[in-house]
Amino acid sequence: MPPKTEEPSLKPADFASLYEGFKAPVSRFDCGRKCAPLNGGEPVCCSTQNAVPVVFKAEFELLKGRTDLWKKFKPYDYATKQIVAELTHDCMAIECKGGRFCERDNRTIACRGFPFYPYLTRQKEFVGMGTYWVFEDRCWMMSNIEIVDRAFVEQFVATYEALFAKDPTEFKTYVDFSASARRVYSRWKREIPLLGRTGELLIVEPSSGEIRKGKKKDYPKIAPFDSEKNYRAAIKEAEGEVPKEGLRAA
Ligand code: SF4
Ligand code: SF4
Repeated sequence: MPPKTEEPSLKPADFASLYEGFKAPVSRFDCGRKCAPLNGGEPVCCSTQNAVPVVFKAEFELLKGRTDLWKKFKPYDYATKQIVAELTHDCMAIECKGGRFCERDNRTIACRGFPFYPYLTRQKEFVGMGTYWVFEDRCWMMSNIEIVDRAFVEQFVATYEALFAKDPTEFKTYVDFSASARRVYSRWKREIPLLGRTGELLIVEPSSGEIRKGKKKDYPKIAPFDSEKNYRAAIKEAEGEVPKEGLRAA
């Protein structure tokens, strides 16, 4: 997740209403079944070995009053100590009890939106959703964005528009994060896939920032999610169990 900056204007009650408007699942498939075999049986985005959720303290305040699912994250190595050391005073790192104990209504905004972030152009226009590229080799959903539900896209966009309207620092965070995306993909010499505000595929040419409509062949398929053979080999290496339908959405 990108680091947060400066003073927040968001209150616990704001998050309560944002949660109400952001309940749609990413797709009708349980994607955790696809990535968990690569990750010791736990969905990749639900274990702090992979992703440490960083939230505003106001969001944690709300959650604390609703559930005992979440607690303050304790760093366990150099990298996680760095994450915590770089937090601003209004933010904190938290962890939940894990995938088996998930409470849908008490997921953070970050949980609800994963693996997507709001993508903003150089002109600071919120044109759609990009994916957290560091997870692309472990997150099955990032190679299957064609099955993302329209309701999810609409709720994601509405949630972030509301967040941006209330807190300009959140907006700036994603302006900067989108610029990082362009730098990374530019270095990789790869185009950035986005889902536009109505779920359509958009492709960003990262060095110019120009956007075109994507075609079917442009949907990303990243190893090991690019073939059944690669997927099965990766699960074998991780000593996991292949889902009965294999790689395909089911
Ligand atoms: S969003 Fe990605 S990492 Fe999270 S459960 Fe689905 S496939 Fe796994
Ligand atoms: S609350 Fe649920 S979705 Fe969020 S990290 Fe925990 S198990 Fe995953």
